[in-house]
Amino acid sequence: MATLTFWGGVGTVTGSKYLVESGGARVLVDCGLFQGLRELRERNWEDPPFDPRHIDAVVITHAHVDHTAYLPRLVRLGFGGPVYCSKGTADLVKLLLPDSARLQEEEAEYRNRKGLTRHEPALPLYTEADARAAIKLIKTCPNTGEPAEVAEGVRAGFHIAGHILGSSLVLLELDGAGADGKGRRVLFSGDLGHYDQPIIRDPVAPPACDYMLVESTYGDRLHDPEDPKAALARVVNEAAERGGPLLIPAFAVGRTQELLYHLRELEDEGRIPILPVRVDSPMAAAATQIYQRTKEEHDEEYEEVLEQHRLPLRTRSMLTASTREESKRLNDEQGTRVIISASGMMTGGRVLHHARRILPDERATVLFVGYQAAGTTGRKILEGARYVRIMKDDVPVRCHVERIGGLSAHADWSEVLRWLEPLEKTPPRRVFTTHGEPESAAAMAQHIRERFGWRVDAPQYGEHVELE
Ligand SMILES: [Zn+2]
Repeated sequence: MATLTFWGGVGTVTGSKYLVESGGARVLVDCGLFQGLRELRERNWEDPPFDPRHIDAVVITHAHVDHTAYLPRLVRLGFGGPVYCSKGTADLVKLLLPDSARLQEEEAEYRNRKGLTRHEPALPLYTEADARAAIKLIKTCPNTGEPAEVAEGVRAGFHIAGHILGSSLVLLELDGAGADGKGRRVLFSGDLGHYDQPIIRDPVAPPACDYMLVESTYGDRLHDPEDPKAALARVVNEAAERGGPLLIPAFAVGRTQELLYHLRELEDEGRIPILPVRVDSPMAAAATQIYQRTKEEHDEEYEEVLEQHRLPLRTRSMLTASTREESKRLNDEQGTRVIISASGMMTGGRVLHHARRILPDERATVLFVGYQAAGTTGRKILEGARYVRIMKDDVPVRCHVERIGGLSAHADWSEVLRWLEPLEKTPPRRVFTTHGEPESAAAMAQHIRERFGWRVDAPQYGEHVELE
């Protein structure tokens, strides 16, 4: 007998946690942090609905914090088993978890200093030591589908999902789990990349399975038909004509590398002028190195660029600022330049220092390339705010504001249907749409039902199903 319980990543795109119980084994697939709305974030602080000491293993689909950053908390609460993921994911997780811990510690420290806490003293959700302890539990598996035993009677196979470096579809094989005594296969799509995304390979075809969880971030939306590269060329050229800086808030892992790849191509093709490109993020620099050395996941175009003895992630006049001093020196530069800095939604990080100087500048441009969640500074600027509050100052927004929708790292619903096509002749018994706001998850379920006629549901938080 086997069961599946949805403890996150349902009704929201954050907090992914799926508990699989089979025979005597308990395996948690993904271990993400809840983000965004307060009622979601509070779940990070509540006791987990299962005992972390009784989880045998954790399996991770990819490195993003909404899939991994609850791991140090799980360890703090007593989990000590192995954590399985692909090699690319492991490299990025080693970068992201200590950073997430530092943010947690800084926030607790800030609350204590400002007296903004009901708890005396406010504690961090976890510390850097917890993050280091979690990293020690990681065991890597090849992203080639070869199954590895992760708990008694449970094997996991990792396949390329094309979302960010290391991202995987995970196929769990559960021995003797069915009512007929036979094994059952459960496929987790993780986050699915879209086809023809630069740098990394396209998602592989889904292997045959009995049950499937499929992501639905864009279950009710299609991507902008404007070619994102052409849109980027337009924005860069217009910024250059105005003679002011171009600020691009971007997440350090994935999005920054994709931007550099596009900018380098546009320079090579003579479609934009050669401009100073400044990457102001210590994490981005480290992540770019991981992207460069993980050769097994590069797509053909990336390899072709390498064969021409060029670095795919390096523009002609590029500088990466790792230290605080290097970052400060960027303030003295004048004229048109491209500044890429995190965080992508302008909720913190070095991008705020740039924003304070750039937003009031009429010749400057701010370009958003990712999803801007409700309540973030990025969202306020996109919605036309004339002033935004940055580090206690009201900063006027006089610069040009641009956005490119098509640079998303997620498949839209039509691409998910395209990805599912190979299973038409061997349909799964049941499909669950996960990782989506309620409307998106419901819409994705409807699209799959209409196209394939399968049994599809959008589960609720805490829903428990038997994998018969
Ligand atoms: Zn993701």
